[in-house]
Amino acid sequence: MDIPTSADVVVIGGGIIGVSTAYHLARLGAGKVLLLEREHLAAGATGMSSGLVRMHYDNPIEATFAHKSFPVFQHFDELVGGDCGFVSTGFVRIVKPHNLERLKANVAMMQELGIETRLVSNQDVKAMAPYMTTDDFALAAYEPHSGYADPHRTTLGLAQAARRHGAQIRQGVEVQGIQLKGGRVQGVHTSKGAVATPAVVNAAGPWGARVAAMAGVELPITPALHQATILEAPPQVPSPHLTFIDRINGVYGRSETGNLTLAATSVGEHDKVLEPDELDSFSHAPMPRIQFQALERLCARIPSMATSPVRPGHVGVEGYSPDGHALLGPVPGIEGFYLATGMSGHGFKEGPAIGQALAELVLHGRTEVVDITPLRATRFAEGKPYQGPHAYQ
Ligand SMILES: Cc1cc2nc3c(=O)[nH]c(=O)nc-3n(C[C@H](O)[C@H](O)[C@H](O)COP(=O)(O)OP(=O)(O)OC[C@H]3O[C@@H](n4cnc5c(N)ncnc54)[C@H](O)[C@@H]3O)c2cc1C
Repeated sequence: MDIPTSADVVVIGGGIIGVSTAYHLARLGAGKVLLLEREHLAAGATGMSSGLVRMHYDNPIEATFAHKSFPVFQHFDELVGGDCGFVSTGFVRIVKPHNLERLKANVAMMQELGIETRLVSNQDVKAMAPYMTTDDFALAAYEPHSGYADPHRTTLGLAQAARRHGAQIRQGVEVQGIQLKGGRVQGVHTSKGAVATPAVVNAAGPWGARVAAMAGVELPITPALHQATILEAPPQVPSPHLTFIDRINGVYGRSETGNLTLAATSVGEHDKVLEPDELDSFSHAPMPRIQFQALERLCARIPSMATSPVRPGHVGVEGYSPDGHALLGPVPGIEGFYLATGMSGHGFKEGPAIGQALAELVLHGRTEVVDITPLRATRFAEGKPYQGPHAYQ
């Protein structure tokens, strides 16, 4: 299919962030919105995402993004259309003992934001999940309605909704250059021809630094692999079971369709760091070393998983910033160039609200969802990495 020769806004990248941005732009009346994806929708981090949908963060910006995205997952059919595969299982976050006071402060911060969460005792967790070992922590954070969703269905649903609002989506089109003149965006060069546009959103995920370089902008994004291990749940573990992040053992887990469990080492551990030129050639095959590590850690929390048969897992690539938070906002000195990249392992659950924030920014020059200024890409050069007041250590 041909691509249009002009657009009011071009969004680069068809992961959750790109489709969500395109959807909100089209919904809010941004005119001709064109999303360009070099492979297919959800071809990058999104398609491999573990899909955890929870709101616990140790900083108010990400907690707000997750909170404002949550209703979209819960009421997807009503708000977007279709089924995003959301399963509400309840969620617990277990932190290392030295972070206990921070846990209390963060739960209080989230309650103030209106997030439905509370502290529960280890006995409460045992009552909810008798299959878990709970004698190594006193308190955990609990979200009764959180769980997980299907990243493919979510992305495709948002893309359909974007199309219904008039956005055009072209797959198999690679953006190869960004045309600038007098400090303003003029258009993009693509594998299928040129598109004139005054506004470009870089939602290229782990490829975000490469796309930014097309406009002469250097971004600190490290691409790294993150692996999901799948195993059969034993009879004593119900399906679906509690979704959890266990920072004592460095593992998270959730149910997967068909009596399976998905487990992975903590996001941010960087199962394997990639060189930028490996971004197009890395293997999606599970790494046995990481699989072993994830299983060992999972069994420390759910001992009955020790004899569970392991099924093929998968590996995805994610782009991480130096402080572990996204790069969001306008690019100083280049009018019409916006960043929504470097999601650092959190982008799926925050995608609906991040897309809304980007659309608001492009259309109105400011965001209603939450102030994203602390996540400006220049914060590192300014020596101001972002951190919540009670960041876990
Ligand atoms: C294994 C794994 C598990 C995860 N688990 C969770 C989780 O449980 N919960 C959670 O919230 N987050 C999770 N994440 C993180 C989350 O999936 C990502 O933050 C999110 O999907 C990033 O979305 P994105 O749209 O920014 O990037 P991507 O999904 O990578 O999309 C970027 C797209 O841009 C395209 N592109 C790149 N260059 C170009 C170009 N030049 N022209 C056109 N298109 C281009 C790519 O093909 C790609 O499709 C996980 C990530 C991984 C890898």
